[in-house]
Amino acid sequence: MNIKFSAKLSLFPLTSEVNNQGHLCIGGCDTVDLAEELGTPLYIFDEFTIRHECHQFITEFSKYYQDTMVIYASKAFLNRALAAVIAQEGLGLDVVSGGELAIAHSVDFPLSKVYFHGNNKTLEELELALDWNVGRVVVDNLYELELLNKLAYDKGINQDILLRITPGVDPHTHKYTTTGTLDSKFGFPLATGQAEEAVEQATAASNINLVGFHFHLGSPIFELEPYRLATELVLRFVSQMKRKDSFEFNELSVGGGFAVQYSLDSKAPDVAEYAQAIGEKLNDLIPQFELDYPRLIIEPGRAIVAQAGVALYKVGAIKEIPAIRKYICIDGGMNDNIRPALYGTKHEALVANKALQEESEIVTIAGKLCESGDILVRDTNLPSVSPGDIIAVPVCGAYSIPMWSNYNALPRPAIIMVNEGKANLIRRRETYQDLIGLDTI
Ligand SMILES: *Cc1c(COP(=O)(O)O)cnc(C)c1O
Repeated sequence: MNIKFSAKLSLFPLTSEVNNQGHLCIGGCDTVDLAEELGTPLYIFDEFTIRHECHQFITEFSKYYQDTMVIYASKAFLNRALAAVIAQEGLGLDVVSGGELAIAHSVDFPLSKVYFHGNNKTLEELELALDWNVGRVVVDNLYELELLNKLAYDKGINQDILLRITPGVDPHTHKYTTTGTLDSKFGFPLATGQAEEAVEQATAASNINLVGFHFHLGSPIFELEPYRLATELVLRFVSQMKRKDSFEFNELSVGGGFAVQYSLDSKAPDVAEYAQAIGEKLNDLIPQFELDYPRLIIEPGRAIVAQAGVALYKVGAIKEIPAIRKYICIDGGMNDNIRPALYGTKHEALVANKALQEESEIVTIAGKLCESGDILVRDTNLPSVSPGDIIAVPVCGAYSIPMWSNYNALPRPAIIMVNEGKANLIRRRETYQDLIGLDTI
């Protein structure tokens, strides 16, 4: 086994190994057999890895700050099977739409542990949240604050809320996923006085109970300092507000954004490092600002599911342009994983049926969609590849599936959850009939 290969294997789910046929196995299941049986593209989730990550966040954060609640940011990926696993692990849920809320509701997820985020929640979504008694609405703007108060009044409810603060801290990540800087569509900026105005209006509102504050800086955040800085700015703000307005400071949410390693050359801090940075900052500053210790809320999305998910594709055409490039064409692409095209994400890849073979050439893995930008992995080392081989791409569990499209009228892939040698189909592959069936003429 060469060294490059074993390093690549470390990007795959924790249960990954290679069997004596040289096939990649995950959760005790041979991925080449799974591709054969269920077709490709196929998304595989390793249940053990998901549960392990949930556990890591709970144990590491409570080591440094005991009263921590972990809520899974479901926009990274949510379906019924996953929601059930998250509930079993005792996490809460961060939802950003009525649709995510409906999925959670459909598996009896404890809705008191649901936090409802979003910069433009509709009236219908807010009504649903109130009717289903979601634990917290994280209010993003004054329009929402007034609307929510009115709806709560009409229903005779007192709704617990957090206010989303925009601290003005740059987390140095992709501009599409930077959310905590002043020029952002999200939250109440500290710098302009709008955060202060929000506290005044929230404490004055008849049917709203302000229980704390939230910020989310962006994603993925490879540095610790932005969390420390934003925590300090928001705590200072809270201590100032407490001197003039009356509210209980019970919760502080520092959002998500915890990075994961996508490729061999992009190491991310581990959970313990984030936990230490945030926990120590809080323990330092809370007494200094003369505040009571609030519950710490963290909202990891990517870091819970990214490594657990692997995408499998079958190789078809291979195009070699002498002295320029060799394109390996697969049966999926930007319709099932738009992240390389949208954010420039760098993935690695492995040939699942040749996992023990020496890597011998540099190739580019191209999708099958009609766009030149549909490149899944550029310039990667693989063994000699032939049509019919199965390509496995690791770290595909977050933000791929929820951005799936039917571009080029490709049916969306199937998803399976593997565990201890069992493979459970958790979403079936779409059919051409699914594509046609919604059209009304
Ligand atoms: C997207 C998002 C998260 C999760 O971010 P990750 O990088 O997936 O951890 C958490 N909180 C809020 C408000 C978000 O919008």
